[in-house]
Amino acid sequence: MATFEFNSPEQEIHFPLFKEKNVRVFVKRDDLIHPFISGNKWRKLKYMISFAKEQNKDTLVTFGGAWSNHLVATACAGANFGYRTYGFVRGDEVENPVLALCKLFGMTLHFVSRSDYQDKHGLYNNVFGNRPRSLFINEGGYSKEAVRGCSELIDELETKYDNIICAAGTGATAAGLQTGISNHPIFQKETSLHVIPVLKGGDFIKDEINKLDVDSSLINFHLDYHFGGYAKVNAQLLNFIKCFVNHTDIMIEPTYTGKLFYALFDLIKNGLFQDKSKILAIHSGGLTGFLGMFNKFYRLLSF
Ligand SMILES: *Cc1c(COP(=O)(O)O)cnc(C)c1O
Repeated sequence: MATFEFNSPEQEIHFPLFKEKNVRVFVKRDDLIHPFISGNKWRKLKYMISFAKEQNKDTLVTFGGAWSNHLVATACAGANFGYRTYGFVRGDEVENPVLALCKLFGMTLHFVSRSDYQDKHGLYNNVFGNRPRSLFINEGGYSKEAVRGCSELIDELETKYDNIICAAGTGATAAGLQTGISNHPIFQKETSLHVIPVLKGGDFIKDEINKLDVDSSLINFHLDYHFGGYAKVNAQLLNFIKCFVNHTDIMIEPTYTGKLFYALFDLIKNGLFQDKSKILAIHSGGLTGFLGMFNKFYRLLSF
């Protein structure tokens, strides 16, 4: 049974903009934790899996859209740690590379209508209510266990950063990072967390973070980098991604990390960060996201 108990590296990246604005930018390479259990998904699942083991569970049951990184991560973690996995997928039955990966890792998929999908506990109880050895894991891994897992990223850091920046979907990763910062003797006074929601109307993330018992008023939110909504893109974003990837060799994708780095560059341009700031961007992984987007690169860029 493999575990992923190593600290992902902190890698400095160099662009003329950073020199011009006199800031340094580092990337926490959580994308290197595992190719399919994408960085933050492993941190979010880790304590769920310890709990499953403690409670002698044999099946992990979870939820996601048809391109969900969390579904693949759970399927792959199940294969690794010896659990059956079951995924409720939102919407009509479809075939795509991400769902094929889920099946390859042994996950059983069950497609449910968008309205049924709203009631996750209801769906769970219908199928698994009388199976005490199964474990409910929320969409995106959203849970207090996820907060604990993500907070550990901060303890791994080798140097001090003035600013840490991450993308947010459910907000669990951001909640974990803020917890790590607030519990850290030095970072709690000197480090600001910046969060880029990738959904439109990202203000709701504040409530989601508060519900995890983390004070969202400690966090700086930048709500205008969603590009029209979840998984929405335009040529400007894709062009940025292309420049970033061929300048750094670090792969990013349009749904989460592309928007994160686009926002980071824009905030640096706008002078948000003070002179000599050291900034850490969290690369939360999710590279299978590119698989659902490759046709957009052909359509919107001259590929
Ligand atoms: C799921 C995911 C996120 C969002 O994490 P939350 O904890 O839901 O906010 C960010 N980046 C990547 C690559 C993801 O796959």
